[in-house]
Amino acid sequence: MRGKRVRRFCVLGAAALVAGAATNVLVAWAFVIWGPFPPGLGISISSPSWRGRVPPEWPTVPKSKYECSVWGLTTSNAMSDAPDGTDWSEFTVSSGWPFRSMRYFYSSSSTSNPAVRNFLLPEGIETPRWIPMWEPRWERGLLPTAAKFPEFVAGSAFYAALFVAIGVGVQRLRRVVRITRGRCIACNYDLSGIPDADLCPECGAVRWKDERVLRTG
Ligand SMILES: [Zn+2]
Repeated sequence: MRGKRVRRFCVLGAAALVAGAATNVLVAWAFVIWGPFPPGLGISISSPSWRGRVPPEWPTVPKSKYECSVWGLTTSNAMSDAPDGTDWSEFTVSSGWPFRSMRYFYSSSSTSNPAVRNFLLPEGIETPRWIPMWEPRWERGLLPTAAKFPEFVAGSAFYAALFVAIGVGVQRLRRVVRITRGRCIACNYDLSGIPDADLCPECGAVRWKDERVLRTG
């Protein structure tokens, strides 16, 4: 009996964690698809750094970097001049709630140097065409595929805890409803005709001892 309960606890806990992680990703994607995008530029970052890949011969830090946040979304734009006189910019989007758990970025450059263009590989996948967007955008955003740590763990744990709380709440509610209706809390068998039995004759579960108190009170 005890081993069975431990196994049930572990299986439900694992299911809650998987569902929490999946929800975390879907929420992050929903913000990218349907959330209001922050305006192009925001606050200037004093110690800028690249987040993606930059050609090795280019400046190690971008010349300027701006970050802008709205509910569920943070965009940042880093810019620099390349050694060959062309420009380079990197656009990063972090999304998710309550934490910015997922990220995508892409780079753009006016250079025609093929070696440099190899560094323009984006992170993230294109939003499928069949997904409707209710806000016209200058482009369809990418779906973020990179998890940010520790935000991803925190966000997944948040949703897992939420699912566990909902599950416990539903179970408690069902229990109260069954007790007030004079039924077995385990299998919903009608116990109204057998008020003195200690066990449910249908499933063998121990009867709720205070059901009479609850029923009359
Ligand atoms: Zn029962």
